[in-house]
Amino acid sequence: ITDKIAALPPGTNYFSLEFFPPKTQQGFANLQARLSRMAQALRPLFVNVTWGAGGSTSAKSLALAELTQRGLGLTTCLHLTCTNMSRRLVDDALEQAKGLGVRNILALRGDPPRSEEYRDETNPLCEEDDSNKDFIWAVDLVRYIRKQYGDYFCIGVAGYPEGHSDQSHPEHQSVEYDLASLVEKAGAGADFIMTQLFYDVEAYEKYERRLREHESGVFNTIQIIPGLMPVQSYQILRRTTKLSHANLPTEVLKRLEVVKGDDDAVKRVGVDILSEMVERMNCIKSPGPRGFHFYTLNLEKVVTQILERSSLIPPATPIVTSTNGNGSHEYAI
Ligand code: FAD
Repeated sequence: ITDKIAALPPGTNYFSLEFFPPKTQQGFANLQARLSRMAQALRPLFVNVTWGAGGSTSAKSLALAELTQRGLGLTTCLHLTCTNMSRRLVDDALEQAKGLGVRNILALRGDPPRSEEYRDETNPLCEEDDSNKDFIWAVDLVRYIRKQYGDYFCIGVAGYPEGHSDQSHPEHQSVEYDLASLVEKAGAGADFIMTQLFYDVEAYEKYERRLREHESGVFNTIQIIPGLMPVQSYQILRRTTKLSHANLPTEVLKRLEVVKGDDDAVKRVGVDILSEMVERMNCIKSPGPRGFHFYTLNLEKVVTQILERSSLIPPATPIVTSTNGNGSHEYAI
């Protein structure tokens, strides 16, 4: 991922799309068709495949990563959690990812699984007792991957522009508190930071500035990729922002509340809101290209509209300028 970002022409933006593995075969087949359309039409710089906490979706996540990386030729970032995971499952996931040609891992701590029904019963490794105390925090996984694989994997870590919440801590942790662990993760060799979803651009801007100006210097040039969740419905928006403790600025809420009874109108207003967020964030000074990560919820339409509106979709055939002895010419690759 970082090599691809570094190779972008100056002034170019990029985006990534996140997908989770469907539970059923029919769901997988539907997603396969959708992904193939989206890959062709949207051309993301890379895609992310989520990982169920405790390895609950390991086989399905790897199958989806196989489809995106090998089947569709998309640069894939596989999420990997480490808490409640046996060392054998971590090793197995990394080896399989390598075997598939996946070069990018988002190294996470993870939360305890939310529900038994999302366990992948076909994977015997999920049933192992959690006797592994090597992985307590995400930084332990970052260190482990670097130790075992050197620079083979490009490693991303999670950042929280409005602080961190999880089910194991009743209290929401502030940006200040969370920053110490982010410094550790960057120091341990993380290559990029991908953030939790937010709708408060001011809070995000403050967060990014804080990282860039941090005395440790570890965030000077690292890619920080803001996480954006397109608005699919008023209910989903309220639920996800509550779970992640993301602030819904009054202006955003007002615009959505007036249309909350009309799902299509909510989506339309949501596209306006997200496109405006992208436009505002494009103005934030960044040491390299500006990237955007979209939590798609495996849906196609709304994210496509946002990307079109924000002019984030790259041309189908990038033009490369090459100079030879007789002058310069352009060719498509
Ligand atoms: P950590 O970096 O370990 O931090 C967890 C908390 O512990 C933080 O509050 C941190 O400040 C604190 N902490 C860290 N180190 C220490 C220490 N030494 N002492 C005391 N406190 C410490 N979850 C999934 O299950 N699957 C996914 O695919 C997934 N994808 C995600 C993608 C993104 C972009 C993001 C932002 C989150 C994702 N998550 C996913 C959720 C994530 O697993 C949870 O938020 C989890 O609770 C924290 O993970 P982390 O990697 O940030 O943990």
